[in-house]
Amino acid sequence: MHTSALVLFSGGQDSTTCLAHALATYARVETIAFDYRQRHRVELDARLTVLAEVRAKFPQWANKLGEDHLLDLAVLGEVSDTSLTRDTAFKMAQSGLPNTFVPGRNLLFLTLAGAVAYRRDLQVLVTGVCETDFSGYPDCRDDTMKAMQLALSLGMDKRFLIETPLMWIDKAATWAMAHRLGGASGAVGGGDALVELIIEHTHTCYLGDRSHRHPWGYGCGECPACELRARGYERFVTSL
Ligand code: ZN
Repeated sequence: MHTSALVLFSGGQDSTTCLAHALATYARVETIAFDYRQRHRVELDARLTVLAEVRAKFPQWANKLGEDHLLDLAVLGEVSDTSLTRDTAFKMAQSGLPNTFVPGRNLLFLTLAGAVAYRRDLQVLVTGVCETDFSGYPDCRDDTMKAMQLALSLGMDKRFLIETPLMWIDKAATWAMAHRLGGASGAVGGGDALVELIIEHTHTCYLGDRSHRHPWGYGCGECPACELRARGYERFVTSL
């Protein structure tokens, strides 16, 4: 029986939905993120706002929400040359992967999250990776997650579960999941409140744009991350 979780929480839509899932499922939940000198610090700022809003608007969840961990991972910026850490344009690389792919990023994140979970005695690692994304990042695939779960469990001699609530669903279903989880949270008007919180406070845009407000939230509206979020939101709203 699993009762505690560590959520890889970046402050975006996906990881906020994963946080809601963990708070709805486990008695004790902590959060972790990594500062790898992202081009934009807005996500790292957004995540603190999201945590504060969750505490304020969802009292039942606030009781379960424990420590937040932010690890310095500057070394990742040193070893990678991608448009997330350097000021280069987004494009598809020769490998067929977008140049937003940071090789090894999720592998490092999960390894460090495992180390923190070991120390904090947390059983489940929750991450918002997804195979249905346009990007096809190989470190977001289900097989990679299963391999990491085995590697961490063997390497630390402690049984970890890596949970991926978004693995097989698209962005419209991710919005719907947030609506459902918020609705079941016990907070008044919780479904709409969680969707509103995600619109207003989470950040997804690759360009770090917080100056343009759309029905689905802030962003440039043009980059792949904005497009995905916007399209998913439109389909979610029309399905209500
Ligand atoms: Zn954007």
